[in-house]
Amino acid sequence: NVRVRFAPSPTGNLHVGGARTALFNYLFARSKGGKFVLRIEDTDLERSTRESEEAVLQDLTWLGLHWDEGPDVGGECGPYRQSERNSLYKQYSEKLLESGHVYRCFCSNEELEKMKVIAKLKNLPPVYTGKWANTSHEEVQEELAKGTPYTYRFRVPKEGSLKINDLIRGEVTWNLNTLGDFVIMRSNGQPVYNFCVTVDDATMAISHVIRAEEHLPNTLRQALIYKALGFPMPYFAHVSLILAPDRSKLSKRHGATSVGQFKEMGYLPQAMVNYLALLGWGDGTENEFFSLEQLVEKFTIDRVNKGGAIFDSTKLRWMNGQHLRALPSEKLTKLIGERWKCTGILTESEGPFVEEAVQLLKDGIDLVTDSDKAISNLLSYPLYATLASVEGKSAIEDKLSEVSDSLIAAYDSGELLVALEEGHAGWQKWVKGFGKALKRKGKSLFMPLRVLLTGKLHGPEMASTMVLLHRAGTCGVVTAEAG
Ligand code: GLU
Repeated sequence: NVRVRFAPSPTGNLHVGGARTALFNYLFARSKGGKFVLRIEDTDLERSTRESEEAVLQDLTWLGLHWDEGPDVGGECGPYRQSERNSLYKQYSEKLLESGHVYRCFCSNEELEKMKVIAKLKNLPPVYTGKWANTSHEEVQEELAKGTPYTYRFRVPKEGSLKINDLIRGEVTWNLNTLGDFVIMRSNGQPVYNFCVTVDDATMAISHVIRAEEHLPNTLRQALIYKALGFPMPYFAHVSLILAPDRSKLSKRHGATSVGQFKEMGYLPQAMVNYLALLGWGDGTENEFFSLEQLVEKFTIDRVNKGGAIFDSTKLRWMNGQHLRALPSEKLTKLIGERWKCTGILTESEGPFVEEAVQLLKDGIDLVTDSDKAISNLLSYPLYATLASVEGKSAIEDKLSEVSDSLIAAYDSGELLVALEEGHAGWQKWVKGFGKALKRKGKSLFMPLRVLLTGKLHGPEMASTMVLLHRAGTCGVVTAEAG
């Protein structure tokens, strides 16, 4: 029974590292027919907020990573917020006290500080000396009677080592003699993070812990607690860090790093998911384009790389373009049409104008937001205004007089407009005749035409551009600013 979890701390936005961890867990669960659990690790009450929890849930939903159990949907192993599981932590800490895996430590902070200083002077690791590890029942009762505050300390074996078989990193071994007995419950009754995680993973019957490499040091403590509680150990898989192009740890100074930022910038969830999957995983072929469903089909944990993965925002942008163009054309038209209406470029979000404009422009854009510039650029040459105005005429005449004379004549007579009413075919027919009369064809015909009609040297295909410009001038969907 595969059960995995994503366990974000709700102290900020979901960043790309967290999103990738969530994705790998999701893919693993779905590919194995298992369950994907969402657990909120809000033991740090000061830094955890409900807004941040909600934002994380929203971002995961946007990415399409739906969970089977979690704080909002419930489940058999709830509650799914650590802040609501205190009685469980209490119960299991008492159990460990009874079994002797844990003991009460009455050391004051000053005493602990002193131990550290002495250890340093003696060149020993700064670990707890074990002062209260073997004290008599009477001594303990005496302190309890005095009301001395105490913590629960975990008794770490003083010798030997602990080994796990990480599914990504292979064998990982720790020597136990450098660890020292660690606190699992503070004197104020607050359970310590590593203890909560272990109790949760165990009681939620998590079979595979897939998480970031930075949690590897925690795994040692958690594995010891697992053993002490008598729960079967899960499999561990520690995923390597996401690095910036300069191989330093990816951070804010490298640009956008949170899922929400990418969403706002116009990225598609499909592209995000695809790109995140490639950060440390590949199916072993050259193929890099995957939908979420295809990823579920192909994903295996043994193909996850143990080296750090470099986050390349240029590649992510390129990938977004691939996914954008892979959308069914009605979907793409709707997406871009709504965007144009929203940004005030067009007055209508649908119709033949939008359809044609999207078809014409889609190859030149990677993000939905790029479409603003593309359409504005296309519409920025006031076609009929230029041709009709006297100054316009002379400006054109100056540059490309031979073609422009005939073009202005074609415009003035209404011939060009009538042709464009017929759409693509009308334009093709007209331009053929126009070229014939001028004894021009190919580049020597189309270059001047393009410059005269669009004001630019380069651009999308002429026939579609002309039909679109004509529509823009006559059908009224273009707002004044855009024209
Ligand atoms: N709450 C931890 C984090 O957000 C994850 C802990 C874990 O996966 O074990 O980094």
